[in-house]
Amino acid sequence: MEKNNNNLFYIDSHCHLQDYSENDLESILNSCQKSNINLLYSNATNKDDFEKNLLISQKYSSDKIKIISGFGFHPWFLDYPLNNEKWLYVFKYFINNLNEKNFFIGEIGIDGGKIKKTFSLENQIEIFKKQIELANELNKLVHIHCVYEWDKLYKILNNMKIENLIKNNKIILHSFQGKKKHIEKFNNLNCYFSISSGCYSKSNFDMLKMLPNNKILFESDSPSMFNKEIYSNENDYKHFYNENKKNNSPESIKFLCKKIAELKEINENEFCNIIYNNSLKVFNDNFK
Ligand SMILES: [Zn+2]
Repeated sequence: MEKNNNNLFYIDSHCHLQDYSENDLESILNSCQKSNINLLYSNATNKDDFEKNLLISQKYSSDKIKIISGFGFHPWFLDYPLNNEKWLYVFKYFINNLNEKNFFIGEIGIDGGKIKKTFSLENQIEIFKKQIELANELNKLVHIHCVYEWDKLYKILNNMKIENLIKNNKIILHSFQGKKKHIEKFNNLNCYFSISSGCYSKSNFDMLKMLPNNKILFESDSPSMFNKEIYSNENDYKHFYNENKKNNSPESIKFLCKKIAELKEINENEFCNIIYNNSLKVFNDNFK
């Protein structure tokens, strides 16, 4: 990735480009280029969008913008017959036959919200652990979703034999909303803390201030996760947001960067460069 020091550059560490319509995607990626967002990590969430996500990364990557795709079974979409390990066979078959070596495992995770009534936490954990094992075996970057269950997530990761993931800084905690007490624990597992506009709420401010700057990444989680709070006025978002679509955009990370810099009382440009360099390290460690 080239970087011109006179401008601010951004990397969207977690989004779902396959969830945009074709038209919206083209205009979103054009705006990204104008905003100096030159790399995006697009996460698939179920087997039906593996192929779509892969095609997006191949079709839209150019010398100006790069899209890296991830594949995984997200806890919200565990509708594939999971009572045997057929899903794992399907997953491994897909990955082994990929004509693309630059990919990651994600989005996978555990969710203690309403979804656990449909898919028990025990089942979610079983499927999550198999995917983590696979990521470790392949030495691949992994994007982890977690709602409420940060203690459990830490215990799971800490008890698994996943030296590749830990030693090589391969774990990204997407939209991190753990408590202050979790920061040190996950930091000891060499995790990155990826922050979305959804994390920007008063209840998280103290935690956000404490995050180590060298471990923070920014993400949009777009098209979802729109949060008015990070914008100073409607002009900042009206070109991609409307009441019908309620879409978020990767461009939200520019505004998020400003807000988190304010919270941390750091110069915005300096902070933006720190986060860009963290993201660049992730790219160079995994995809160069
Ligand atoms: Zn996501």
